[in-house]
Amino acid sequence: MRENYTLIRLYIDTALKLGGEIILDKPHIHYLLTVLRKSQGDRIRVFNGKDGEWAADITRLSRKAGALKITKSLRAAQICPDIWLCFAPVKKHRNAFIVEKATELGVRHLQPVVTQRTQFPKINLERLNAQMIEASEQTERLDIPSLGPINTLNDMLDQWDMGRTLIFADEASSDINAETQTTKPALNALKTIQETDGPCALLIGPEGGFTPSEREHILAHTFVKAVTLGPRILRADTAALALLTLWQSAQGDWG
Ligand code: SAH
Repeated sequence: MRENYTLIRLYIDTALKLGGEIILDKPHIHYLLTVLRKSQGDRIRVFNGKDGEWAADITRLSRKAGALKITKSLRAAQICPDIWLCFAPVKKHRNAFIVEKATELGVRHLQPVVTQRTQFPKINLERLNAQMIEASEQTERLDIPSLGPINTLNDMLDQWDMGRTLIFADEASSDINAETQTTKPALNALKTIQETDGPCALLIGPEGGFTPSEREHILAHTFVKAVTLGPRILRADTAALALLTLWQSAQGDWG
């Protein structure tokens, strides 16, 4: 097991270096003192998403003030594979589920995208960011995924970097009577992606799916590869995590 694995781990939004002192903010003081019942002299781990992971000793901890001193480097910085998830916002607790699980599964970037049938176009980005940080703390990641500002499907496609392949989860193709020549089973399609195809992003629709005109518009782009996740229609959150799992197995860092 990794050294110091059992020590609790905090994301701290400040530069980290050996010997550095960290002044704790109120939420961290509360968490260490009241929730974890830590005290002066105890050791924890800290990371900031870019400078790796460090051991830090609590040098002061009271209701009013708290500080840490960085005592040892534990792991060098490392970032997750370059995979994006573009998802249509769903209900609040299901958005939370998507960002938490996608963070655990090692997503690099999350992009909320509003489509015609998106029922919950307003999302609280700050809250989702906090959930991504919490999931990163728990999952031993050394980076935090980024969260893009909400965008419409059309604008996202117009502004798309052609060097990135967009893997489109196309539920219409799960209908066995539909014309499916363009759509491949997801795992096969992902396995055939070459370095020349560039990095990937995954696109998942809202609970009501994409409209026929949106589907046509998505498929008209040369950077799009449509894939099916089988004969059953999955909920948007299930589809997102299933496709991310397949990508990690075929192209990511699970191999
Ligand atoms: N059109 C739907 C449900 C949409 S499911 C309806 O009947 O209401 C939400 C999203 O999950 C879809 O837009 C699609 O991106 C993805 N999805 C769900 N099941 C899928 C499947 N079998 N294959 C590919 N994508 C799927």
